Amino acid sequence: MNILVINAGSSSLKYQLINMNGENVIAKGNCERIGIDGKISHKTHDGRAFSKEVEMPDHTAAFQQVTKALLTGKAKVIDDLSEVAAIGHRIVQGGYKYDRSVLVTQQVIDDIYDLAALAPLHNKAHVQGINAAIEAFGKDVPQVVVFDTAFHQTMPPKAYMFGIPYEYYEKYKIRRYGFHGTSHRYVTARCLELLGKPDGKDTRIVSCHLGNGSSIAALKDGKVIDTTMGLTPLDGFIMGTRSGGIDPSVVSFIMDKEGFNPKEMDYILNKKSGMLGISGVSSDDRDIAQAIEDGNQRARLAWDMRTYEIIKYIGGYIAALGGIDSIIFTAGIGENQGILRQEILESLGYRGVKVDMEKNTVRGQEAEITTPDSTVLGFVIPTNEELLIARDTKDLILGS
Ligand code: AMP
Repeated sequence: MNILVINAGSSSLKYQLINMNGENVIAKGNCERIGIDGKISHKTHDGRAFSKEVEMPDHTAAFQQVTKALLTGKAKVIDDLSEVAAIGHRIVQGGYKYDRSVLVTQQVIDDIYDLAALAPLHNKAHVQGINAAIEAFGKDVPQVVVFDTAFHQTMPPKAYMFGIPYEYYEKYKIRRYGFHGTSHRYVTARCLELLGKPDGKDTRIVSCHLGNGSSIAALKDGKVIDTTMGLTPLDGFIMGTRSGGIDPSVVSFIMDKEGFNPKEMDYILNKKSGMLGISGVSSDDRDIAQAIEDGNQRARLAWDMRTYEIIKYIGGYIAALGGIDSIIFTAGIGENQGILRQEILESLGYRGVKVDMEKNTVRGQEAEITTPDSTVLGFVIPTNEELLIARDTKDLILGS
């Protein structure tokens, strides 16, 4: 059974075709600059690849390029679209309505569109992706949506409410939703497997998704009780280009001084802040690490701010959980940046956490990175959001 996984952004459409028999990626690619000019890059499991510029005025045109790449030319992987059993879509914002993945119906599409107020850049693009998939594959090919917010729906109100007038929650549903749920769900499920406690009972886990966008989730008995991202993926701690949480009055202060409108301020906080904003060097962690080696003090400051904010969050979550058994590192930085992992784990030295320096050199591979006598187990677990989307899609279509 082949499942096509789609991650539609406002001007991009990433895809993976996964054979669920062995859970292998058969082909994957990316359509970029949709609505601008257009470029598709495609590669197959056996190393065939191409990249070309091609007109893509909208997501429907991008989908046509995807199906063409899968069906024709030197990098084709299937003979007929009927070899795609179902399509799974990543959806950023599921609001309070969706606490799990669901099969796509018109009602679901309408809900995702309505929730666009809470994720304007993402949800509208997701709807375009779903509609384009229906056009390309027809209504009979089942489609499933997997929400980034769903896994965090177990948070209690005391964790998800903000201390602002209650009427804004009632009117606009302003609250913490949390993101990266698909990644946190994937790595924590794997962690529970490694612990031999697949049902999660009596476990307290802190899951650190550290990438260009970053978030941490605290899980008790396998369920999220709190997470760092909020109404949008801007909250939490310093990220590649996002500020993370700051004193809210800074926003109105800068808007007033610089004459920014809400959109311009949003841009500053989402695209010009974080590691990039502090260092003035780059949002990419490898550039920051290099700049620190070259003696750049602002890069050093950005790095230290991030480590400090992460440590504060983890300390808070340990208090909220009433202890901790395991800590997970995942995503681009979490899977590859041993020094940051070491700094974080060593901050827990007071609780008897001991890093295994040798094992902590691991990059991009699953590993236990604490010593056998450490009181908390540290793991690197590579995330795989696409595989989880494909698994949910398979489960839902078989269930239906
Ligand atoms: P992601 O958003 O999960 O793709 O993560 C992107 C971030 O991971 C960027 O800041 C990269 O610099 C960082 N990253 C990716 N690969 C490596 C690596 N091999 N070593 C250090 N950082 C990496």
